[in-house]
Amino acid sequence: MAYDKIIVPDTGEKISFTDGKMNVPDNPILLFIEGDGIGYDIMTASKRIWDAAVKKAYSGKREISWMEVYSGEKAAGLYDGDYMPEETFEAFREFYVGIKGPLTTPVGGGFRSLNVTLRKVLDLYSCIRPVRWFKGVPSPLREPQDVDVVIFRENTEDIYAGIEFEAGTPENEKFAKFLREEMGATGFFEGAGLGVKPISPFGSKRLIRAAIEYAIERGRSSVTLVHKGNIQKFTEGAFQRWGYELAKEEFPEQTISWEEVAEKHDGKVPEGKILIQDTIADIMFQKMLLRPREHDVIATTNLNGDYLSDALAAEVGGVGIAPGANIGDEIALFEATHGTAPKYTNKDMVNPGSLLFSGVMMLEHLGWFEAADLITKAYEMTIDQKFVTYDFARQMDDATKVATSEFATKIIENMDNV
Ligand code: NAP
Repeated sequence: MAYDKIIVPDTGEKISFTDGKMNVPDNPILLFIEGDGIGYDIMTASKRIWDAAVKKAYSGKREISWMEVYSGEKAAGLYDGDYMPEETFEAFREFYVGIKGPLTTPVGGGFRSLNVTLRKVLDLYSCIRPVRWFKGVPSPLREPQDVDVVIFRENTEDIYAGIEFEAGTPENEKFAKFLREEMGATGFFEGAGLGVKPISPFGSKRLIRAAIEYAIERGRSSVTLVHKGNIQKFTEGAFQRWGYELAKEEFPEQTISWEEVAEKHDGKVPEGKILIQDTIADIMFQKMLLRPREHDVIATTNLNGDYLSDALAAEVGGVGIAPGANIGDEIALFEATHGTAPKYTNKDMVNPGSLLFSGVMMLEHLGWFEAADLITKAYEMTIDQKFVTYDFARQMDDATKVATSEFATKIIENMDNV
């Protein structure tokens, strides 16, 4: 398709799909959205690292052709004030895989979050956040090496559906009247703001399916359904029930429920089976602090996942290093999980870790595990040598504080030593 401001690179080929299976050429065109604020610094540094790793891991046989697409302030400058140009969506529909820096959400004026818009429009229903500790990274835990989970957060439903009625409006009054008079719902005060929390079998099952498929592909040992079903029976409780149903119907060979383990296997998970278990959301926070080893892949609803992702990231270095991805049936958008940190814009100072490891997830998504591992190892070596950006330097003894660009150079140099 012809684009207005987007320039399709001369070299490189499109990723394609055959019967739902992704075909990745050796020279794929991948999209990037630079991002606002610190976006330029972290994207520039990370692209250098990704490119160097691919070149080294495949001796030049593979190479990424980058194609810039626009959102946020850079888009507004180019597209006459449009923060989210339509052709950015079109590019994702044509090229499938990309990565983005953080985007400013303009406050007020009826703007929706650009991140939420991207997820909604492209139907990127799984938000995936791997949380693991890297040696040397400052952590508040005594044994941070026990944290190694991958969170699958449902991205399209729950209170994020935006069905809310503001107190004092005619819509709110009409809805309140309907609830009281026709539905017999009386458990709320006069003048309360009202919201609706939709959770469907379709939305829940496709997310849980993606989590189980991931667990199978990556050799993970369990999938924990995290929910608040003790209170919200027909939404959160239903999510849990649909999860067990799906595992039984679609993955009977590969999975086993904790109930079956207790009843038929004396509490021991049979070899080669993935355990399907569940936990109430509030207790999950305690478990992940005290016994993180008991959980591996987590599948949860949107709001639980939002809280849990940042809380667990804090256990292993914080949002400055936590990576993330939003994935649909075919389109995958990898992203830094922190914001634009505007006070550090163009200071060449911040930690590129979150974006960098989102790129590592992207390389794994393409099946380029060698390049992904090379980055992880070189990163660990760099932290071990105590070359770190300001955020880690202030939590570590005897660290050498380096700029974002210097940190990238160190990682690239260390690729020769891993
Ligand atoms: P933020 O940009 O994430 O920054 C909050 C603090 O987190 C920073 O002041 C800094 O802490 C630390 N931080 C963030 N990124 C870091 C990095 N790469 N390296 C080291 N430290 C880092 O959150 P915010 O100030 O609440 O939000 C600013 C803007 O970002 C808002 O417009 C918001 O809407 C947007 N936002 C976008 C996304 C996204 O695009 N996914 C996500 C969240 C927020 P210190 O001050 O302690 O150094």
